[in-house]
Amino acid sequence: MAIEASSPAPLAFVDLQAQYASYKDEIDAAIHRVLDHGKFIMGPEVGELESALADFSGAKHVVGCSSGTDALLMILMAEGIGAGDAVFVPSFTFTATAEVLLLLGAQPVFVDVDPDDFNLCLEDLERRIDAVKASGVYTPRGILAVDLFGLPVDYAGLQALADMHGLKVWGDAAQSFGGSIGDRKVGALARATATSFFPAKPFGCYGDGGAVFTDDDVMADVMRSIRAHGKGGDKYDIIRVGLNARLDTIQAAILLAKLPHFAGEVDRREAVAQKYDALLSGKVRTPVRRQGRSSAWAQYTIKVPADRRDAISAALKQSGVPSAVYYPLPMHLQTAYRAMGDGKGSLPVSEALSGEVLSLPMHPFLTDDQIAQVAEALIGAV
Ligand SMILES: *Cc1c(COP(=O)(O)O)cnc(C)c1O
Repeated sequence: MAIEASSPAPLAFVDLQAQYASYKDEIDAAIHRVLDHGKFIMGPEVGELESALADFSGAKHVVGCSSGTDALLMILMAEGIGAGDAVFVPSFTFTATAEVLLLLGAQPVFVDVDPDDFNLCLEDLERRIDAVKASGVYTPRGILAVDLFGLPVDYAGLQALADMHGLKVWGDAAQSFGGSIGDRKVGALARATATSFFPAKPFGCYGDGGAVFTDDDVMADVMRSIRAHGKGGDKYDIIRVGLNARLDTIQAAILLAKLPHFAGEVDRREAVAQKYDALLSGKVRTPVRRQGRSSAWAQYTIKVPADRRDAISAALKQSGVPSAVYYPLPMHLQTAYRAMGDGKGSLPVSEALSGEVLSLPMHPFLTDDQIAQVAEALIGAV
């Protein structure tokens, strides 16, 4: 039997093993410190991580919690969002953005997105705010913006529009922690910002985790209470309805060990994106850049003709290159949410994008050879 030339290691979409191998000693030591002290719930690492993340982001308060979804939920609970309230959200997003509104009995109002950067379209947002106000059924309360694929939304433009209509702005930064606008980092761009530490996000732990960033002292206090069943000064003094939404000590320890490497990882993601751009521009529609805004590159997402996408992703797979579709169906067409909107045709950009987007392998441990391999396979496939 002939021995074949060794083929390159299979490409990972997100390579968590490579990341662990790089920081193994620090991560193992951090986990073992927790095993030794035994304070598994709200141990000292949780507070240490919160202060380290406040320093990193420039936000005054960071409240760690059990997931990005709970971070969103805690923001809305702290703001008193509930029945009769309308909150504006993009339709082209992950389920959690809208899910938390339904859990509170509030009404998500789906808004279309920009066809180039995939984030909220301010013109469509304004139209929908006017429509909700004109119909008078719901009270418009705020805008839950999503920094899709890692690129911060135009928070200044959003805030100006929100101020005109007396609305609040909150950020779903599950994908964008590590990004920035000018010299302000994600976490310091909105009244309150939620992020996720899901393993595959730019700053991930090894299980579920999340955090809220805010400068507001009262909101921070309320969210610290909400994450622990609505406790007051004492654990058994319950002053509001809350959640069990604490961040695990072991996860906090892992994040603390990873934090010193994070800025370097974000830089490498940017370098990977630039290499993809150089190899792919003119061949497929590569992600757009926005002046002054830097992405955390949770995903590197291209657009291809909708009728060719399945064939392209199958051809990539044949060449050993994984790809993914985020998201194949916009929120307003999902079974659980359909009744809340105006159905097919009502958010044309979100609907078109869900047919065209394709995300390529993106993580800080991609080698230049692997990037070239992805580009070559893609160019052969389109
Ligand atoms: C991942 C994600 C969430 C939810 O985060 P979890 O930690 O998985 O709960 C929310 N919004 C967006 C945009 C996400 O990508």
